[in-house]
Amino acid sequence: MRGVLVDLDNTLLPWNSSEIPPAHRAWLEAARARGISVCVISNNHTTRVESALRELGIPYVSSARKPLRVGFVRALRQLGLPPEACIVVGDQLLTDVWGAHRMGMRAVLVRPVVSTDGPHTRVNRFFERRLRRLLERLGLWPEEG
Ligand SMILES: [Mg+2]
Repeated sequence: MRGVLVDLDNTLLPWNSSEIPPAHRAWLEAARARGISVCVISNNHTTRVESALRELGIPYVSSARKPLRVGFVRALRQLGLPPEACIVVGDQLLTDVWGAHRMGMRAVLVRPVVSTDGPHTRVNRFFERRLRRLLERLGLWPEEG
């Protein structure tokens, strides 16, 4: 892997804060130190994304419209990497993971940073829970780790 497309809200930082936790800053620095390019890909608007990333100087795509491909294509173009060289990291099945899979990319689903969500995400979570239960029943939910 040469690149990571990482979600912002509840993946890199809590949805209701602009403070990136120290452990996540360290993760970003470790990726950079290994020559792995990072681009933030968020469905949130530019003002929000920019205020969270201002001091870090990480490239980003805001209003990405995940799970549509358009935002992923823009993010890959920013990094100058093909989809097969990148992985997507995010906390939502129906935006981050589905979008990644639509691009033929691998995805890592992470636990949300905080257990609350913004208004749009709450609606998604309702459907995500149902989808997850279905996948678990069918034995299609992957092992953690
Ligand atoms: Mg998120």
